[in-house]
Amino acid sequence: MGLQGRGGTIQYRSHTRFPGYWRLLDVIYLPDENEDEDDENDDMRLDIDNMSYEELLALGEHIGNVSTGLSKEVIMARLKQRKYICLATGPCVGEKTCCICQEEYADDDDIGKLDCEHEYHVACIREWLVQKNSCPICKKTALAT
Ligand SMILES: [Zn+2]
Ligand SMILES: [Zn+2]
Repeated sequence: MGLQGRGGTIQYRSHTRFPGYWRLLDVIYLPDENEDEDDENDDMRLDIDNMSYEELLALGEHIGNVSTGLSKEVIMARLKQRKYICLATGPCVGEKTCCICQEEYADDDDIGKLDCEHEYHVACIREWLVQKNSCPICKKTALAT
């Protein structure tokens, strides 16, 4: 059944009609007070607010398909984090390149370690884990929940 072609697209502008979607979206786009992502989040919310019913449904299905991922709250709570420090007096220990963005770590980068001991930029692995809770390198469960 199509919602279009009956004199226009039906739009549900009030988010109170879809509390479920908004709860999901809040999980995915959790505001992060420590980073400069607030503007981005605001834009996303605005777009969602203007979406048609069909677009919201599609978004809901999309979110459903990636439900194997973790929420950012869980990621930040479980991810072991450290600062990357490369001492000038000796060789760096361990992996030097983030496999997700293919860039070498720089001093003071935030590094996150998964349960399998593989390391990535916190920002990179966080985006990955939202999609899928498995290590990009060894495919093991990234963070036990
Ligand atoms: Zn990276
Ligand atoms: Zn791994």
